[in-house]
Amino acid sequence: MGAINLVTEVPGPRSREIVARREAAMTRGIGKLTPIAVERAEGSLVTDVDGNTYIDFAGGIGMLAVGHNYPPLVDAVKDQLDKLVHMCAIVGSYEPLVVVSELLNEVTPGDHPKKTALLNSGAEAVEAAVKIARAHTKRQGIIVFEGAYHGRTNMTMSMTSKYKLFKSGFGPFASEVYRLPFPNPYRRPQGSTEAEFIEWSIWNLEHAMVAQIDPEAIAAIVIEPVQGEGGFIPTPAPFLQRIRELCYEHGIVMIADEIQCGFGRTGKLFASEHYNLVPDLITTGKSMAGGTPLAAVTGRADIMDAPHPGGLGGTYSGSPLACVAAIESINAIRQPQFLARANEVGHAIRTVCEGLQARYGMIGDVRGLGAMIAVEFVTNQVSKTPDAPTVQALTAETLQRGLITIRAGLYSNCVRFLPPLNISDEHLEEGLDVFEASIQAVAARSMPQAGD
Ligand code: PMP
Repeated sequence: MGAINLVTEVPGPRSREIVARREAAMTRGIGKLTPIAVERAEGSLVTDVDGNTYIDFAGGIGMLAVGHNYPPLVDAVKDQLDKLVHMCAIVGSYEPLVVVSELLNEVTPGDHPKKTALLNSGAEAVEAAVKIARAHTKRQGIIVFEGAYHGRTNMTMSMTSKYKLFKSGFGPFASEVYRLPFPNPYRRPQGSTEAEFIEWSIWNLEHAMVAQIDPEAIAAIVIEPVQGEGGFIPTPAPFLQRIRELCYEHGIVMIADEIQCGFGRTGKLFASEHYNLVPDLITTGKSMAGGTPLAAVTGRADIMDAPHPGGLGGTYSGSPLACVAAIESINAIRQPQFLARANEVGHAIRTVCEGLQARYGMIGDVRGLGAMIAVEFVTNQVSKTPDAPTVQALTAETLQRGLITIRAGLYSNCVRFLPPLNISDEHLEEGLDVFEASIQAVAARSMPQAGD
């Protein structure tokens, strides 16, 4: 018997009741990808209020590299609860706040002196990174890329791509944000090789420094080394390299947003390490704190100290509970055997997905780095026309079969895999079997029937 155990229809009656109350009580603006209400979770398993147990390949949107309710993290938070729930780092210091900052200074790429700012959410961290870069350079321009996701606050929404889902109706947006094309090799113009396309993208990047903004007016270039919401697209190495060079050349702050691709997801602690990239600032969040709200900006000490005292942070920034959770999560993820497991997980997912791609014309691309793998769905492999309805049907189908999956991509036509990185072989295999059976079911339904 597997781990998945469905004892009612999905969603069951209790879930339906709670979700109906949610819909009545909460704004629909906070989206809802599944119709289940969850009672508890452990490792890679989630149990809903009707007693149905699912395998979780969404991991709280990449928040749970160490799995749900990682026992050392739960113990540390319980222990901290008895001592100090809140102080406010603006009012006083407490050791866990300092330990997390020291850890981040130690484990992030580069051996230069570093400092850290702790914040509550990824968006806040990106926004703080922009403020730091502007204070340091005394410039305003921020370069971002198509397909990027940096958050939902006004500044980070302005930096985010994918207008309809994240931005429509919410303008005016922040000024001095310049967006450049991102070299997605899968969607390069027909007839060009990947190398030619990357070369053109670099030319375009340099051209933008004349056509759009002078480098002397740019405070920061912000890039996800592997795009997350954009559909798990690793940035081509020469492109990232050129950005690094341009930043050095013109005193621009290079900010790597590793909120989704960091903390083990790509099989290294940071995706930047795959590229030998040392960004000036790095933003982290999600899996860093194993499910508790904590995010950070870490980077060159001189840049980090540019803002005046009082210019950064907030009431909750660096909550003691989140800090002790982060210490446990970071110390687990940084272990070589943990990262080795992440690579095994990624290899298993990739192997299954590439096998499926060979059999199903609706899979256009299987890509990613380490365990950060996504599958892109298209109406056919030649036209590459994005197929969002199939992804919607597929994620609904996997849930019916006891597997939680979520979408990604500029066209919402990808399924991304974000399981705990310490998932067992049994749960991984069972989840992948369900994924495969669900594709088969969705493909069978979309086959033209006789008489159609
Ligand atoms: N940057 C990246 C790369 C992200 O993936 C996300 C979240 N998906 C954010 C920033 C924003 O993080 P948060 O939702 O914690 O504000």
